[in-house]
Amino acid sequence: MRCPFCQAEDTKVIDSRLASDGAAVRRRRECQQCAERFTTFETAELVLPRIIKSDGSREPFNEDKLRRGIGRAVEKRPVATEDIDAALDRIKHRLHVSGEREIPSRDLGAWVMDELRDLDEVAYVRFASVYQQFQNIDAFREEIERLQQQSAGDTRRSQLSLLKDGSD
Ligand SMILES: [Zn+2]
Repeated sequence: MRCPFCQAEDTKVIDSRLASDGAAVRRRRECQQCAERFTTFETAELVLPRIIKSDGSREPFNEDKLRRGIGRAVEKRPVATEDIDAALDRIKHRLHVSGEREIPSRDLGAWVMDELRDLDEVAYVRFASVYQQFQNIDAFREEIERLQQQSAGDTRRSQLSLLKDGSD
């Protein structure tokens, strides 16, 4: 790190310790050129990126808004609150690890759809249609057909496992 006194680039860490209950690292440094000492604090930056809306405007990520959006999609569906909380946590984790300062709202929408697809297919289709994630009606229809085939497959699988249970 550059010396704030003489701007020399060669500074040496002479002491390093945790600060703020471990949330920060405090480092004592000494300039190799002018011998001045100074202190730096290092903290993890966990600022969630801002959301770029489809009209190009930006807004801060709003967890309550996201929770409401998911809540509307799962209304009267057999989805546990703790599953919704876990999905929200995974989405926030993805926002954190993206490392981006701003992300398009459609990326956020796609992550929500990833979660809903696993939770409840009706909620997934509701969310997808409300947030217009599908390019056109054909893409929407294809997705519905894909889901129908998938649930037909699930039924076959459960019938197979019933047969297996019977033969034991
Ligand atoms: Zn210096």
